[in-house]
Amino acid sequence: MTTPAIETFALAKSYGTTRALIGLDLQVNEGEIVGCLGPNGAGKTTLIRLLLGLLIPSHGRAEIFGMDSQRDAVAAHRRLAYVPGEANLWPTLSVAETLRLLGQVNGKVDLTYQAELIDRFSLDVTKRVRALSKGNRQKLILVAALMTRADLLILDEPTSGLDPLMEQAFRLCVHEAKDRGQSVLLSSHSLSEVEALCDRIAILRAGRLVEMGTMAEMRHLSALTVEVTFSRGVPDVTKIPGVSSVDVQGSTLRCQVRGSVEPLLNSLANSGVRELLSREPSLEELFLSHYGAPAPDVANDSDQ
Ligand code: ATP
Repeated sequence: MTTPAIETFALAKSYGTTRALIGLDLQVNEGEIVGCLGPNGAGKTTLIRLLLGLLIPSHGRAEIFGMDSQRDAVAAHRRLAYVPGEANLWPTLSVAETLRLLGQVNGKVDLTYQAELIDRFSLDVTKRVRALSKGNRQKLILVAALMTRADLLILDEPTSGLDPLMEQAFRLCVHEAKDRGQSVLLSSHSLSEVEALCDRIAILRAGRLVEMGTMAEMRHLSALTVEVTFSRGVPDVTKIPGVSSVDVQGSTLRCQVRGSVEPLLNSLANSGVRELLSREPSLEELFLSHYGAPAPDVANDSDQ
């Protein structure tokens, strides 16, 4: 069995009385792309900063390719590249100088790929960093991370400020990274991006991991939306097992179905069904379903 790219063991971080991360057990396998989702303040950046050894955990620990993120931070950093949500760069350097400097810090750069990335992201290497727009600064730090071909890419809101064309370029790079066997942890508010790129998705809420799985697994746990139009009266389905949120508008019935859809279909067999549509929940619906309910009361929790 290969060593996971990332593994956390009951990882926790508090800032005073604020519990930013609570008992997190997370694994990102080698060659896997994991998306980390959560509303503002859920703990995503805290997790990333702990993985990078930039914060000291209040409890638990994290490993990067089996190396402790605190004790072996230098060795761990040799295997990873990081894209922060917002980077402080040197304003007076040009884009080319910045890439050269960051490349020297990292130690290994694929120069052919670097040239391809500069072209793909339409980066003007002669410009001074202080003259770059937010999106162009973001492109620069993306190129700097990707050009290293690091075994693990840790990306915090990597496409914030990028236009749709550049988002496409970014997606291509992540697919290429996966094809090469690189691992990726991607924190993002873009649900379509996470849905399109990630093998598994971790949903954080108030510092806790509330869901982790593939899209298919997560959909399985959630309700299916079913819409049925009848040629005669709409039957009562409220007592059918698994059926909820029943709404009738004229001759159309809309409801949610959890678990097997068979009991509902059986009950509709001789009801004059004219049209039946069923739809799996989108990632947006799954995501919202986790945040519709009140947040867990972390103040009364005793676990870390
Ligand atoms: P966002 O999507 O807004 O970037 P996030 O999921 O990255 O949010 P974090 O930045 O990890 O969330 O914050 C988690 C919690 O920890 C929040 O309640 C935040 O206010 C708190 N927090 C983060 N950094 C500090 C700090 N340096 N001091 C005190 N509290 C902090």
